[in-house]
Amino acid sequence: MAEEWRSVRVLITGGSQGIGLGIAEVFARAGARVAITGRNTARLATARARLAACGAEVATITADVADSRSCVRMAAEAENLLGGIDVLCANAGIYPERAIAQITPSDLDRVFGTNVHGMVFSVQACVDALRRSGRGRVVVTSSITGPTTGFPGLSHYGASKAAQLGFVRSAAVELAPHNVTVNAVLPGSIRTEGLDGLGPETVDRMQACIPLNRLGEPTDIGHAALFFASEGAAFVTGQSLIVDGGQTLPELPEMR
Ligand code: NAP
Repeated sequence: MAEEWRSVRVLITGGSQGIGLGIAEVFARAGARVAITGRNTARLATARARLAACGAEVATITADVADSRSCVRMAAEAENLLGGIDVLCANAGIYPERAIAQITPSDLDRVFGTNVHGMVFSVQACVDALRRSGRGRVVVTSSITGPTTGFPGLSHYGASKAAQLGFVRSAAVELAPHNVTVNAVLPGSIRTEGLDGLGPETVDRMQACIPLNRLGEPTDIGHAALFFASEGAAFVTGQSLIVDGGQTLPELPEMR
């Protein structure tokens, strides 16, 4: 397996904690060359040290996905550090809770600016490098919330995550002639710093809804991203994979 991954160069946005860090761990352990990004430089340094302690080496790039110029710099830096980009994991995202009546224009701008604009800016900035790769892969971290399920207080977030899938399908067709595939992972409830921000009561209620009876780990999403980036998935594009421990399956509450 290490042989397959040794020459693969992977850029992960929002890789300083949570799901992005789990994706970085899985790719780095597989043997890939990995760079992680985030806005907070200190958090990136902590993440790099955490990964190094478990034998996974990564580079770090400070960048804000909501800013298109920052994304251009991010892609240039990743090309410099890694020697090119074969895989972009467009993972950075935010999910602040807001009741519909309370959502302000700036709340909408923040959520869509990071989750939708940030994904598009990241892909745009990396697209030339991905084409040059000859085996380019984009893996978007969407969510079950929006595309599959609903959650009070996350309507604007759900809309942004559903928008991501619209982008994935058209981007898959547009980039196919360049042998670049574009797919999405739809996580259920994954144990991350961001999820903890929703409060212990909400997190406990989420866990109670999962047939496999645990929250997901960030590396569970990492393994799904690794599949989409693998040689074995070369013919898979424009698709979504739900990784949720069965959370979206039960038809009756007692089946959970
Ligand atoms: P998290 O723990 O809050 O981590 C978010 C990461 O994104 C951090 O590294 C953060 O670093 C970075 N980030 C946020 N805004 C950014 C920006 N403008 N530019 C660059 N980096 C930015 O969140 P998470 O739970 O891991 O979620 C990651 C992704 O998974 C999101 O897209 C989320 O929608 C999706 N997701 C999560 C769950 C879940 O249960 N956790 C479920 C479904 C989908 P900085 O703050 O330093 O920038």
